Amino acid sequence: MNWDAPNFARSANSRTAHTRPDVDKPESDLRLIPWWSVALSALVFFAIQILFHRIMPPPHPGTAAMRWIMSYSWGTALASYMLLIGYISRDVKRRNMSGAVWMLMVLLMPAGIGAVVYFLLRQPVMTRCPSCRTELAHDFHFCPQCSFQLAPVCGQCFRGVHITDVFCVQCGHDLAQDSMPARLRSYTD
Ligand SMILES: [Zn+2]
Ligand SMILES: [Zn+2]
Repeated sequence: MNWDAPNFARSANSRTAHTRPDVDKPESDLRLIPWWSVALSALVFFAIQILFHRIMPPPHPGTAAMRWIMSYSWGTALASYMLLIGYISRDVKRRNMSGAVWMLMVLLMPAGIGAVVYFLLRQPVMTRCPSCRTELAHDFHFCPQCSFQLAPVCGQCFRGVHITDVFCVQCGHDLAQDSMPARLRSYTD
């Protein structure tokens, strides 16, 4: 493998690659929540208030405060769940997971268990190649489009190594022999 031929020259004019706000701006986590889920959440909250204060029979004089607390907590809980569903529907896409399967899980499993399972099992967010902007999964060592090195690897067997390793733990290769030490490439570029 030729270590000296990354396509840096291309990087300047290849930024026109298609953009996706969910991958390109990982810090905008709250902005992932789509408008329909915010609207649904407000709608659900007001529907619960109407249910408790208009449709249900009027409370006994002594329990009016309790009725307000119940309507507020049920409204908040269900409204938050709508926001959560909206967030997951967008979050699942930037992690290269199956949107249909996970939305079904979250909607069908009772009491929010589907959402808990989702947050336990979700994959890391996709990133972009610093050189050509291709979308990359978290475990790639090289960009599939331009061979940009993304993680420190052994120059002989190309398995991952730690930046402090002197020898490859898989094949025993002396990492200092790599033409430009492979384990350092991603940090010096
Ligand atoms: Zn690339
Ligand atoms: Zn090796």
